[in-house]
Amino acid sequence: MRHHTLEHRFVRNAPRELEPGVLYISMEYATAVHSCCCGCGERVVTPFTPTDWRITFDGESVTLNPSVGNWNQDCRSHYVIERNRVVECGRWSDVRVEAERRRDMRAKAAYYGRAAASARPDTPPTAHAVDTEQTSGIWSRFWAWLST
Ligand SMILES: [Zn+2]
Repeated sequence: MRHHTLEHRFVRNAPRELEPGVLYISMEYATAVHSCCCGCGERVVTPFTPTDWRITFDGESVTLNPSVGNWNQDCRSHYVIERNRVVECGRWSDVRVEAERRRDMRAKAAYYGRAAASARPDTPPTAHAVDTEQTSGIWSRFWAWLST
């Protein structure tokens, strides 16, 4: 782990070149992005949604929950950002990564299924499908942010 602390920076848009050791936070786009704390330089994007990450700002430092697991990158680093400190967590096995992916999919399906049902009361309660409109809304918001 090359970076043991991160400096938080509230921004509107993330810069194209990320400064290592900085956690860029955009409230406007409900997303944070940082350069992987292991030092590999991969861009790590953590969107804030009810089923993804939550950010806590205590006025001096930020805490990001849950942990950041860079399973799709070569380094496969895994850490939590707690009051701007980077706390390394153990590496996960493939089985655990797969279990987490499934849990995440279930959580999203459950959340967006419910949100979709309450947003449109005429929708039959049997509709459990992920609301693609809302999901793609998050992604386009995301891409708009990354590509500016
Ligand atoms: Zn890394």
